[in-house]
Amino acid sequence: MKILVTGGAGFIGSHVADTLLAAGHQVVIVDNLHTGHEYNVPAQATFHNIDIRNHAALDELFAAEQFDAISHQAAMANVRESMSNPAPYAEVNVIGTLNLLDLSRKHGVKKIVMASTGGAVYGEGYSEDGSRLPFTEKTWPQPKDNYGATKLSCEFHLDLYHANYGIKYIALRYPNVYGPRQDSKGEAGVVAIFAGAMLADQPTKITGDGTQKRDYAYVGDVARANKLALESDAVGIYNVGTGVPTDVNTIHRTLAQVIEYEQEPIYVARPAGEVLATYLDSSKARRDLGWEAEVPLAEGLRHVVEWMQESK
Ligand code: NAD
Repeated sequence: MKILVTGGAGFIGSHVADTLLAAGHQVVIVDNLHTGHEYNVPAQATFHNIDIRNHAALDELFAAEQFDAISHQAAMANVRESMSNPAPYAEVNVIGTLNLLDLSRKHGVKKIVMASTGGAVYGEGYSEDGSRLPFTEKTWPQPKDNYGATKLSCEFHLDLYHANYGIKYIALRYPNVYGPRQDSKGEAGVVAIFAGAMLADQPTKITGDGTQKRDYAYVGDVARANKLALESDAVGIYNVGTGVPTDVNTIHRTLAQVIEYEQEPIYVARPAGEVLATYLDSSKARRDLGWEAEVPLAEGLRHVVEWMQESK
Protein backbone atom coordinates (compact mmCIF):
# COMPACT_ATOMS: atom_id res chain seq x y z
CA MET A 1 0.00 0.00 0.00
CA LYS A 2 1.02 3.63 -0.39
CA ILE A 3 0.60 5.08 3.10
CA LEU A 4 0.70 8.68 4.32
CA VAL A 5 2.25 8.85 7.80
CA THR A 6 1.50 12.18 9.47
CA GLY A 7 3.88 13.04 12.31
CA GLY A 8 6.44 10.64 10.81
CA ALA A 9 9.35 12.84 11.95
CA GLY A 10 8.25 12.36 15.55
CA PHE A 11 8.91 9.67 18.11
CA ILE A 12 6.12 7.14 17.43
CA GLY A 13 5.46 8.15 13.80
CA SER A 14 9.06 7.45 12.75
CA HIS A 15 8.84 3.94 14.24
CA VAL A 16 5.52 3.40 12.45
CA ALA A 17 7.21 4.49 9.19
CA ASP A 18 10.14 2.07 9.80
CA THR A 19 7.74 -0.82 10.47
CA LEU A 20 5.61 -0.10 7.39
CA LEU A 21 8.69 0.16 5.15
CA ALA A 22 10.07 -3.11 6.54
CA ALA A 23 6.74 -4.75 5.62
CA GLY A 24 7.10 -3.57 2.01
CA HIS A 25 4.72 -0.59 2.04
CA GLN A 26 5.49 2.76 0.41
CA VAL A 27 5.66 5.61 2.94
CA VAL A 28 5.14 9.35 2.46
CA ILE A 29 5.62 11.50 5.57
CA VAL A 30 3.97 14.82 6.39
CA ASP A 31 5.28 16.71 9.42
CA ASN A 32 5.77 20.40 10.23
CA LEU A 33 8.71 19.60 12.58
CA HIS A 34 6.96 21.28 15.52
CA THR A 35 8.36 18.63 17.88
CA GLY A 36 9.67 16.19 15.24
CA HIS A 37 13.10 16.13 13.60
CA GLU A 38 14.01 15.52 9.99
CA TYR A 39 16.76 13.12 11.13
CA ASN A 40 14.03 10.74 12.36
CA VAL A 41 12.62 10.37 8.83
CA PRO A 42 13.67 7.00 7.38
CA ALA A 43 15.81 7.24 4.22
CA GLN A 44 13.34 5.25 2.08
CA ALA A 45 10.39 7.52 2.95
CA THR A 46 9.47 10.71 1.07
CA PHE A 47 9.22 13.75 3.37
CA HIS A 48 7.00 16.86 3.04
CA ASN A 49 7.21 19.72 5.52
CA ILE A 50 3.47 20.48 5.62
CA ASP A 51 1.27 21.61 8.49
CA ILE A 52 -1.86 19.42 8.71
CA ARG A 53 -3.87 22.63 9.25
CA ASN A 54 -3.00 23.56 5.64
CA HIS A 55 -5.90 22.05 3.67
CA ALA A 56 -4.72 23.42 0.30
CA ALA A 57 -1.18 22.00 0.58
CA LEU A 58 -2.54 18.62 1.68
CA ASP A 59 -5.07 18.66 -1.18
CA GLU A 60 -2.25 19.00 -3.71
CA LEU A 61 -0.30 16.20 -2.06
CA PHE A 62 -3.34 13.87 -1.93
CA ALA A 63 -4.07 14.55 -5.63
CA ALA A 64 -0.46 13.79 -6.61
CA GLU A 65 0.08 10.73 -4.42
CA GLN A 66 -3.30 8.89 -4.39
CA PHE A 67 -2.76 7.28 -0.97
CA ASP A 68 -4.35 3.94 -0.11
CA ALA A 69 -4.31 4.61 3.63
CA ILE A 70 -3.24 7.07 6.32
CA SER A 71 -1.42 6.50 9.60
CA HIS A 72 -2.25 9.67 11.51
CA GLN A 73 0.28 10.30 14.27
CA ALA A 74 0.69 14.11 14.04
CA ALA A 75 -0.70 16.00 17.01
CA MET A 76 -0.05 18.52 19.72
CA ALA A 77 0.37 16.15 22.66
CA ASN A 78 1.35 18.09 25.75
CA VAL A 79 -1.36 17.70 28.39
CA ARG A 80 -0.34 20.70 30.48
CA GLU A 81 0.12 23.03 27.50
CA SER A 82 -3.34 22.01 26.23
CA MET A 83 -4.76 23.74 29.33
CA SER A 84 -2.58 26.88 29.21
CA ASN A 85 -2.82 27.38 25.42
CA PRO A 86 -5.86 25.43 24.19
CA ALA A 87 -6.55 26.86 20.71
CA PRO A 88 -3.70 25.15 18.81
CA TYR A 89 -4.84 21.83 20.31
CA ALA A 90 -8.25 22.20 18.67
CA GLU A 91 -6.71 23.55 15.47
CA VAL A 92 -4.04 20.87 14.98
CA ASN A 93 -5.74 17.86 16.53
CA VAL A 94 -9.35 18.42 15.49
CA ILE A 95 -9.18 20.64 12.37
CA GLY A 96 -6.02 18.80 11.20
CA THR A 97 -7.81 15.44 11.51
CA LEU A 98 -10.91 16.85 9.76
CA ASN A 99 -8.68 18.01 6.88
CA LEU A 100 -7.35 14.46 6.49
CA LEU A 101 -10.86 13.00 6.62
CA ASP A 102 -12.26 15.53 4.16
CA LEU A 103 -9.41 14.86 1.71
CA SER A 104 -9.75 11.09 2.18
CA ARG A 105 -13.38 11.42 1.08
CA LYS A 106 -12.39 13.62 -1.88
CA HIS A 107 -9.46 11.48 -3.06
CA GLY A 108 -10.76 7.98 -2.27
CA VAL A 109 -8.47 7.04 0.65
CA LYS A 110 -9.92 3.82 2.06
CA LYS A 111 -8.53 3.60 5.58
CA ILE A 112 -7.21 5.81 8.34
CA VAL A 113 -5.55 4.66 11.55
CA MET A 114 -5.25 7.37 14.19
CA ALA A 115 -3.12 7.65 17.32
CA SER A 116 -5.53 8.23 20.19
CA THR A 117 -4.76 8.04 23.88
CA GLY A 118 -5.97 5.75 26.63
CA GLY A 119 -4.72 7.77 29.58
CA ALA A 120 -6.11 11.15 28.48
CA VAL A 121 -9.38 9.90 26.92
CA TYR A 122 -10.41 7.69 29.86
CA GLY A 123 -9.19 10.04 32.58
CA GLU A 124 -10.87 8.79 35.74
CA GLY A 125 -13.30 6.79 33.55
CA TYR A 126 -15.73 4.31 35.09
CA SER A 127 -17.53 1.41 33.44
CA GLU A 128 -21.28 0.87 33.52
CA ASP A 129 -20.93 -1.67 36.33
CA GLY A 130 -18.98 0.85 38.47
CA SER A 131 -15.63 -0.88 38.00
CA ARG A 132 -12.70 1.25 36.92
CA LEU A 133 -9.54 -0.66 35.97
CA PRO A 134 -8.31 -1.92 33.66
CA PHE A 135 -9.96 0.40 31.13
CA THR A 136 -11.72 -1.39 28.29
CA GLU A 137 -13.11 0.25 25.16
CA LYS A 138 -16.50 0.21 26.91
CA THR A 139 -15.26 2.39 29.77
CA TRP A 140 -17.04 5.74 29.73
CA PRO A 141 -14.46 8.34 28.58
CA GLN A 142 -13.93 11.25 30.94
CA PRO A 143 -11.07 13.40 29.61
CA LYS A 144 -9.60 15.69 32.24
CA ASP A 145 -7.72 17.99 29.85
CA ASN A 146 -8.18 19.63 26.45
CA TYR A 147 -5.69 17.26 24.84
CA GLY A 148 -7.80 14.21 25.78
CA ALA A 149 -10.99 15.99 24.73
CA THR A 150 -9.56 16.78 21.26
CA LYS A 151 -8.56 13.13 20.77
CA LEU A 152 -12.03 11.95 21.79
CA SER A 153 -13.55 14.46 19.38
CA CYS A 154 -11.35 13.05 16.57
CA GLU A 155 -12.67 9.56 17.32
CA PHE A 156 -16.25 10.81 16.79
CA HIS A 157 -15.23 12.45 13.50
CA LEU A 158 -13.60 9.21 12.32
CA ASP A 159 -16.77 7.31 13.14
CA LEU A 160 -19.06 9.72 11.32
CA TYR A 161 -16.87 9.68 8.19
CA HIS A 162 -17.10 5.90 8.29
CA ALA A 163 -20.90 6.02 8.63
CA ASN A 164 -21.36 8.66 5.92
CA TYR A 165 -18.62 7.84 3.40
CA GLY A 166 -17.51 4.28 4.20
CA ILE A 167 -13.93 5.30 5.12
CA LYS A 168 -12.63 2.57 7.39
CA TYR A 169 -10.88 3.68 10.55
CA ILE A 170 -9.16 2.41 13.62
CA ALA A 171 -8.42 4.65 16.60
CA LEU A 172 -5.63 3.10 18.65
CA ARG A 173 -5.76 4.23 22.26
CA TYR A 174 -2.12 4.19 23.32
CA PRO A 175 -0.94 3.91 26.92
CA ASN A 176 2.37 5.56 27.97
CA VAL A 177 4.62 4.79 25.03
CA TYR A 178 8.39 4.74 25.55
CA GLY A 179 11.42 3.82 23.47
CA PRO A 180 14.32 5.14 21.42
CA ARG A 181 13.88 8.63 19.86
CA GLN A 182 11.59 9.84 22.65
CA ASP A 183 12.66 13.33 23.60
CA SER A 184 14.00 13.57 27.15
CA LYS A 185 13.72 17.37 27.14
CA GLY A 186 10.58 19.17 28.24
CA GLU A 187 7.33 17.27 28.72
CA ALA A 188 8.40 13.84 27.46
CA GLY A 189 7.54 10.58 29.18
CA VAL A 190 9.09 9.64 32.48
CA VAL A 191 11.30 6.91 30.95
CA ALA A 192 13.10 9.35 28.65
CA ILE A 193 13.41 11.96 31.41
CA PHE A 194 14.82 9.51 33.99
CA ALA A 195 17.17 7.81 31.51
CA GLY A 196 18.47 11.18 30.25
CA ALA A 197 19.12 12.45 33.79
CA MET A 198 20.67 9.19 35.02
CA LEU A 199 23.07 8.94 32.08
CA ALA A 200 24.20 12.51 32.83
CA ASP A 201 24.47 11.56 36.54
CA GLN A 202 21.95 14.30 37.36
CA PRO A 203 19.38 14.06 40.18
CA THR A 204 15.93 12.66 39.34
CA LYS A 205 12.54 13.80 40.67
CA ILE A 206 9.45 11.72 41.40
CA THR A 207 6.10 13.38 42.04
CA GLY A 208 4.12 12.11 45.05
CA ASP A 209 5.34 8.83 46.55
CA GLY A 210 6.02 7.17 43.19
CA THR A 211 3.22 4.63 43.53
CA GLN A 212 1.18 6.10 40.66
CA LYS A 213 0.73 3.35 38.07
CA ARG A 214 0.72 3.53 34.30
CA ASP A 215 0.71 1.07 31.41
CA TYR A 216 4.10 1.38 29.64
CA ALA A 217 4.18 0.04 26.07
CA TYR A 218 7.36 -0.26 24.02
CA VAL A 219 7.27 1.83 20.84
CA GLY A 220 8.08 -1.17 18.59
CA ASP A 221 4.95 -2.93 19.87
CA VAL A 222 2.86 0.19 19.22
CA ALA A 223 4.29 0.54 15.70
CA ARG A 224 3.36 -3.10 15.01
CA ALA A 225 -0.19 -2.40 16.23
CA ASN A 226 -0.38 0.41 13.66
CA LYS A 227 0.77 -1.89 10.86
CA LEU A 228 -1.72 -4.61 11.81
CA ALA A 229 -4.51 -2.00 12.07
CA LEU A 230 -3.71 -0.61 8.60
CA GLU A 231 -3.69 -4.10 7.08
CA SER A 232 -6.89 -5.22 8.83
CA ASP A 233 -10.52 -4.80 7.74
CA ALA A 234 -11.59 -4.09 11.32
CA VAL A 235 -13.18 -0.75 12.21
CA GLY A 236 -13.43 0.90 15.62
CA ILE A 237 -11.56 1.79 18.78
CA TYR A 238 -8.80 -0.43 20.14
CA ASN A 239 -6.71 -0.21 23.29
CA VAL A 240 -3.07 -1.16 22.71
CA GLY A 241 -1.55 -1.49 26.18
CA THR A 242 0.31 -4.19 28.04
CA GLY A 243 -2.40 -4.58 30.69
CA VAL A 244 0.36 -4.40 33.33
CA PRO A 245 0.27 -1.51 35.81
CA THR A 246 3.81 -0.36 36.64
CA ASP A 247 4.58 2.28 39.22
CA VAL A 248 7.08 5.10 38.79
CA ASN A 249 9.34 3.74 41.54
CA THR A 250 9.70 0.50 39.55
CA ILE A 251 10.62 2.40 36.37
CA HIS A 252 13.20 4.37 38.35
CA ARG A 253 14.66 1.29 40.04
CA THR A 254 14.86 -0.77 36.82
CA LEU A 255 16.53 2.04 34.87
CA ALA A 256 18.93 2.71 37.75
CA GLN A 257 20.00 -0.95 37.65
CA VAL A 258 20.60 -0.88 33.88
CA ILE A 259 22.56 2.39 34.08
CA GLU A 260 24.25 1.61 37.43
CA TYR A 261 22.95 4.92 38.77
CA GLU A 262 23.25 5.24 42.52
CA GLN A 263 21.49 8.48 43.51
CA GLU A 264 18.14 8.25 45.31
CA PRO A 265 15.23 10.06 43.62
CA ILE A 266 13.99 13.35 45.10
CA TYR A 267 10.28 13.13 45.97
CA VAL A 268 8.32 16.33 45.19
CA ALA A 269 4.64 17.33 45.55
CA ARG A 270 2.17 15.53 43.33
CA PRO A 271 0.45 17.84 40.79
CA ALA A 272 -3.23 18.49 41.58
CA GLY A 273 -5.60 16.19 39.73
CA GLU A 274 -3.00 13.57 38.80
CA VAL A 275 -4.73 10.26 38.01
CA LEU A 276 -3.31 7.60 40.36
CA ALA A 277 -3.62 4.56 38.14
CA THR A 278 -4.42 3.78 34.53
CA TYR A 279 -3.87 0.63 32.53
CA LEU A 280 -5.54 -0.83 29.50
CA ASP A 281 -7.27 -4.10 28.71
CA SER A 282 -6.27 -4.86 25.11
CA SER A 283 -8.07 -8.18 24.60
CA LYS A 284 -10.14 -6.64 21.78
CA ALA A 285 -6.92 -5.90 19.82
CA ARG A 286 -5.69 -9.43 20.48
CA ARG A 287 -8.97 -10.89 19.19
CA ASP A 288 -9.50 -8.68 16.10
CA LEU A 289 -5.99 -7.55 15.12
CA GLY A 290 -3.89 -10.44 16.43
CA TRP A 291 -1.87 -7.90 18.44
CA GLU A 292 -0.43 -8.06 21.90
CA ALA A 293 2.51 -6.36 23.56
CA GLU A 294 5.63 -8.52 23.31
CA VAL A 295 8.58 -6.53 24.64
CA PRO A 296 9.03 -6.90 28.42
CA LEU A 297 9.66 -3.67 30.35
CA ALA A 298 13.26 -4.47 31.34
CA GLU A 299 14.18 -5.23 27.73
CA GLY A 300 12.46 -2.10 26.42
CA LEU A 301 14.24 0.06 29.01
CA ARG A 302 17.58 -1.47 27.97
CA HIS A 303 16.86 -0.47 24.33
CA VAL A 304 16.24 3.13 25.47
CA VAL A 305 19.51 3.27 27.40
CA GLU A 306 21.50 1.73 24.52
CA TRP A 307 20.00 4.22 22.08
CA MET A 308 20.77 7.17 24.36
CA GLN A 309 24.34 5.98 24.82
CA GLU A 310 24.82 5.56 21.04
CA SER A 311 23.32 8.94 20.16
CA LYS A 312 25.36 10.90 22.71
P1 NAD B 1 5.89 13.60 18.90
O1 NAD B 1 5.72 15.01 19.36
O2 NAD B 1 7.24 13.00 18.85
O3 NAD B 1 5.20 13.40 17.48
C1 NAD B 1 4.19 14.24 16.96
C2 NAD B 1 4.63 14.68 15.59
O4 NAD B 1 3.59 15.49 15.00
C3 NAD B 1 5.90 15.54 15.62
O5 NAD B 1 6.83 15.07 14.67
C4 NAD B 1 5.39 16.93 15.26
O6 NAD B 1 6.36 17.73 14.60
C5 NAD B 1 4.20 16.59 14.38
N1 NAD B 1 3.22 17.69 14.30
C6 NAD B 1 2.73 18.43 15.34
N2 NAD B 1 1.89 19.36 14.88
C7 NAD B 1 1.83 19.21 13.52
C8 NAD B 1 1.16 19.89 12.49
N3 NAD B 1 0.34 20.94 12.75
N4 NAD B 1 1.32 19.47 11.21
C9 NAD B 1 2.16 18.44 10.93
N5 NAD B 1 2.84 17.77 11.87
C10 NAD B 1 2.68 18.14 13.16
O7 NAD B 1 4.93 12.75 19.85
P2 NAD B 1 4.65 11.18 19.92
O8 NAD B 1 4.80 10.78 21.32
O9 NAD B 1 5.42 10.46 18.86
O10 NAD B 1 3.10 11.16 19.56
C11 NAD B 1 2.59 10.61 18.35
C12 NAD B 1 1.09 10.46 18.48
O11 NAD B 1 0.78 9.53 19.53
C13 NAD B 1 0.35 11.75 18.85
O12 NAD B 1 -0.85 11.78 18.12
C14 NAD B 1 0.08 11.59 20.34
O13 NAD B 1 -1.07 12.31 20.71
C15 NAD B 1 -0.13 10.09 20.43
N6 NAD B 1 0.12 9.54 21.78
C16 NAD B 1 1.38 9.47 22.28
C17 NAD B 1 1.58 8.89 23.53
C18 NAD B 1 2.95 8.73 24.14
O14 NAD B 1 3.06 8.12 25.21
N7 NAD B 1 4.03 9.21 23.51
C19 NAD B 1 0.49 8.40 24.28
C20 NAD B 1 -0.78 8.51 23.74
C21 NAD B 1 -0.96 9.05 22.47
